[in-house]
Amino acid sequence: MDMPSLFGSMVFNEYAMRARLPGEVFRALKTTMSEGSGLDSGIADIVANAMKEWALEKGATHFTHWFQPMTGSTAEKHESFVSPAGDGRAIMEFSGRELVRGESDASSFPSGGLRATFEARGYTVWDTTSYTFVKDGSLYIPTAFCSYSGEALDKKTPLLRSMEALNRQALRILRLFGDDTTKRVAATLGPEQEYFLIDRELYLKRPDLVCTGRTLFGAPPPKGQEMEDHYSCSIKPRVAAFMRDLETELWKLGVYAKTKHNETAPAQHELALIFSTANIACDHNQLTMELLKSVADRHGLACLLHEKPFAGVNGSGKHVNWSMATDSGVNLLEPGETPHRNARFLLFLVATVRAVDEYQELLRISAASASNDHRLGSCEAPPAIISVFLGDELTEILDAIEAGTGYESRRRSRMEIGVSSLPRFPQDSTDRNRTSPVAFTGNKFEFRMPGSSFSVAGPGIVLNTALAQVLQEFADGLETAPDFKTALTELIRKTVSEHKRIIFNGNSYAPEWPEEAARRGLSNLGDSRQALSRFLTPKIVGLYGRHGVFGEEEMRSRLEIRIEAYCNSVRVEAVCMVRLCMADIIPACLAYQNELAELLARKRDLGSFDCTPETDLLTEISAASARMSAALAALETALEKSGGETEPFARLAAHGEEVLPAMADLRRTVDALEVLVARKHWPFPVYAELFYRV
Ligand code: ADP
Ligand code: MG
Repeated sequence: MDMPSLFGSMVFNEYAMRARLPGEVFRALKTTMSEGSGLDSGIADIVANAMKEWALEKGATHFTHWFQPMTGSTAEKHESFVSPAGDGRAIMEFSGRELVRGESDASSFPSGGLRATFEARGYTVWDTTSYTFVKDGSLYIPTAFCSYSGEALDKKTPLLRSMEALNRQALRILRLFGDDTTKRVAATLGPEQEYFLIDRELYLKRPDLVCTGRTLFGAPPPKGQEMEDHYSCSIKPRVAAFMRDLETELWKLGVYAKTKHNETAPAQHELALIFSTANIACDHNQLTMELLKSVADRHGLACLLHEKPFAGVNGSGKHVNWSMATDSGVNLLEPGETPHRNARFLLFLVATVRAVDEYQELLRISAASASNDHRLGSCEAPPAIISVFLGDELTEILDAIEAGTGYESRRRSRMEIGVSSLPRFPQDSTDRNRTSPVAFTGNKFEFRMPGSSFSVAGPGIVLNTALAQVLQEFADGLETAPDFKTALTELIRKTVSEHKRIIFNGNSYAPEWPEEAARRGLSNLGDSRQALSRFLTPKIVGLYGRHGVFGEEEMRSRLEIRIEAYCNSVRVEAVCMVRLCMADIIPACLAYQNELAELLARKRDLGSFDCTPETDLLTEISAASARMSAALAALETALEKSGGETEPFARLAAHGEEVLPAMADLRRTVDALEVLVARKHWPFPVYAELFYRV
């Protein structure tokens, strides 16, 4: 494989731009990209034309504005470059206007009420900081999606706004440290993506997986993950071939796929991308999720991105690694080797600790969804309580700063901010704790609550905006302080003292932790329903408003969309269960009972056989079927009742508190039947087959 010529070969990246654009156009575009300013229309035409020529060479016939509506996936509408030449022939055309701005009917995407108040028309606008690329015969233009009057209808717009807010405030801090050269500070994100791979034939025989992404029924297999023999074990040839193919596709699109390994559960795997600027990481993670699915298809596999496809084994998360970097590539969460850098590091570190403590509920909300509720807090993923892991060494340093005593446990010198340098702590020593929801891992924070199917935009928006807020408070204080060094030392000390309650280096899975967390006054929003009810608080509305990330209307619309998404996902699952019972499970149970009854009758006809085994089995299945019928009826009642609720929070409660438990009851009865009914009658592949057939 010729990696250098393969990597990014389908991307109109800086390399392609430089080769194909006149010098002054290239420079103008570069300025636009780095400063996020507007693109002059004359320049846009030249760029569009060069891009089109390049795309045609790569086999593209169409272009599409690619955007990230509130549906959870990406959207695209392809238009061909073809334009009539007037003499019956066609020419290929692509204007700057078409590149920069598109129009899309917003009414077919969730807008949470914004559509009603504003206009159905939506606009897509090229995010010039993210490169265009060619995939499946189309030129893809990464865009932000807004309503006619500028309200965000997507996940990208607020992410970009939050990056702007962070940039503004972080620059103020850097200036205070005498840095006059840095032009931009960008949030960086590195997602780790977990997923399951199962055989496609078997997948297609599970309507629950096809419709809802998870198994709604399934008794535990004889062997699950208890032997701990899957994590990082050798990768099976079929999976290895899939991963190779996937990586090649990602590399062509300029996505830095880096590490891969088997995860804890059977058939579970992970792929990590090298971090990049937040909005690009967001685009790349969306592309990765799409390609995971389409490449799996080609290999006769199905990729499951659901947070909890199988009960009884670990679900899948998406660890969102986050930091801040300057345009010259300095990571602001990298511990410094000089006293000066060390002070700056400590400031950004305690700022993050404060941001996480102050906005713990918002972080929790960013990880809330019906599917992630199956995963959080079940001893495989962080609990719903937000805390920060810093590791013992860093915690000792902060304790010493707070006490003003000097950090003497390991080195004799007094630790004075801006005077002494931090001891180097090896990255490994900070990364032993795998149970913490927010862990400092040497030079970045790792937020581990988001689910595998999430866009990283949500968590990114929260981290960026919360940091912007804290940095703003810090800058306001420091800019007017008579003596910077004294004020800085005091600020760091005060911040540690006020927010150390959020620092927890212990085992977050331990049963004592929730009690301890309650004593510390930490928030514990156990599920999505509780989390979403905290979204429209004045504190959060104020935060987003102040930094221009979301207006209150936009927040209302987002909340509405998320509540609807929760209820819809529960409803689809419940309806799917009902249908599967009626169409497949009940008939299977009846067929088997009939077989047993016929056998019993024949045995009795033939003479005096011992009929105890058949009688017992028939009795047992009959009783289990009766329990299933009762549970089914109860679920149907809950569905009907919840369907009548119109007030959003009442709807949310009805689905979470009535439909979900009824689904769990029904599942128990069906799973009990699965182990009683003959395999030839059972209508779906069972867990053992799904886990071990690849
Ligand atoms: P682990 O499994 O121990 O968490 P990985 O190597 O799988 O470690 O993942 C680490 C992730 O953190 C990678 O995606 C990496 O790109 C990302 N990362 C590293 N440095 C930064 C940074 N400065 N900002 C954001 N993400 C980062
Ligand atoms: Mg990780």
